[in-house]
Amino acid sequence: MRPAKSPRLRLWSLLPLLLLLWAAWRPCAAGDEGEDGDAGVAGHKDHHWSYKDMPEWASEFSHCGGHMQSPININTSTVSFNARLEPLLLSGYDLPPEETLPLKNNGHTVLLGLPRKMTLGGGGFPQPYQAAQLHLHWGSGSARPGSEHTVDGHRYAGEIHVVHYSSRFESLQEAASEPGGLAVLAAFLQVGTETNEPYEHILQQLREIQEEGEETAVAGFDVAKLLPYDIDRYFRYNGSLTTPPCYQTVNWTVFNRTVQLSQDQISVLEETLQGDDDEPIQGNFRLLQGLHGRSVLSSFHSLKKVQPPGGGPSEEGGGSAEPEAGGGPSSAPPGGAPRDGLGQTPGEGAEKRVGVSLRTGDVLAILFGSLFAATALAFLFYVLKHRRQAGRAQAKKSAALFAPASTDEHVL
Ligand SMILES: [Zn+2]
Repeated sequence: MRPAKSPRLRLWSLLPLLLLLWAAWRPCAAGDEGEDGDAGVAGHKDHHWSYKDMPEWASEFSHCGGHMQSPININTSTVSFNARLEPLLLSGYDLPPEETLPLKNNGHTVLLGLPRKMTLGGGGFPQPYQAAQLHLHWGSGSARPGSEHTVDGHRYAGEIHVVHYSSRFESLQEAASEPGGLAVLAAFLQVGTETNEPYEHILQQLREIQEEGEETAVAGFDVAKLLPYDIDRYFRYNGSLTTPPCYQTVNWTVFNRTVQLSQDQISVLEETLQGDDDEPIQGNFRLLQGLHGRSVLSSFHSLKKVQPPGGGPSEEGGGSAEPEAGGGPSSAPPGGAPRDGLGQTPGEGAEKRVGVSLRTGDVLAILFGSLFAATALAFLFYVLKHRRQAGRAQAKKSAALFAPASTDEHVL
């Protein structure tokens, strides 16, 4: 039962409550601006899956929550050389122009269908693989590059994946869920000064397949020209598809050398295609996944490792995916501090944006916080004074009623 209070007391008790409500509401509003545009956005679509609901993939596709997922960050200081990773053998890649290939906008990427006569051998594989398709991943402008894998925390402008399936199986679908069923060749796309002519076979057709589901035909060309000129130097690890259902059946080969496209070409890639809801397809890469004890092998000795005494031939640098990340090529000292970048690069731009959006909000928060503190203090004094006046009988209730409000305030 509450004894009647004076109107003055009621007014005082309302103020902290209102301020507390305001303080609780404000950070949510700022957070909705999104420090991470790729994740945590509400409004799950009915669509099969999307990059916006990446955190929920695992609940619908159980493999996505596994411990052999892709993509990963390749930390060159912990990669081990493996002599069994011999050169790759690509055959049937040079397709005649009479042979047309389907090029499709599937709502997530641009996908080029490949004939199974294109085969991948060597590379330490126990059996050959047949090509099925290739597709690209990209970002949304130079501030938000879009390769899936990263090297020493560095994310490249984009990435090409050439998907093959084991010749033990009849089709890609059949092989996709089987251990060792797939082999994907991955190369990083980087901004260079010149137009990459082989990529024009794909980029020039993008306008014809702007809408999701549209398809066109591309005249055959030498598909190997989409890969780096040196495919003997690569990283290898066991991983997964980077899109649902995330089957952990992929032998990944990530080339050390990058492929260079002009800025105009990268822009065409980033700005032409549209996905569902007529939104541009941008940032179609999955966030980095943990290694969980997996090892990453390399077909070559890392530039960072000290040469054995007696000295082999000096290793050339440049145009490589290795340590260009920050500072010049091979500028890092042997065994130098690894730039371990799990989740680091995609956050860079985002951190700046959050910083700006919080600045004005913080000033307000401090202002109102101080006001609230002053109010709480004044109220405390009032209560103490009132307690003294009211005598022992009323002392109990006032202490319990208002203490929590000031605790919450300091949490902010
Ligand atoms: Zn891919």
